[in-house]
Amino acid sequence: METIFSKIIEGSIPCNKVFENERILAFYDIEPAAPVHVLIIPKKPIPSMNEVAPEDLPLIGELHSVAQQIAKELGIAETGYRLINNCGPDSGQAVQHLHYHLIGGAKLGALIG
Ligand code: 5GP
Repeated sequence: METIFSKIIEGSIPCNKVFENERILAFYDIEPAAPVHVLIIPKKPIPSMNEVAPEDLPLIGELHSVAQQIAKELGIAETGYRLINNCGPDSGQAVQHLHYHLIGGAKLGALIG
């Protein structure tokens, strides 16, 4: 399925890149919700967390490792951050391509409780 993120991966829509390798791309969110707001996505077009297959688990692990590395590089590893995946309508998922939001750089409000 073609999405904004597949166009960013192929380069037809520009992005402000933070990290890239053969499998993963990370770039700044166009509408940041906090001082640091990076989107981390697999290049494989997985629509959402619901479609993550057992063979994708190394990729999901690598996404977490990339998030850890970016948090360090952007100086939020010690102050703290959230790594958020929205899945499906109730979560507000707007782009049907798996992505994690790495959010930090300020005290974040409680989501629950
Ligand atoms: P979702 O609500 O699907 O979890 O998050 C999608 C995110 O993608 C939103 O935070 C939105 O600001 C971001 N976004 C949508 N279109 C673009 C775009 O063209 N470029 C970038 N960098 N971010 C985008």
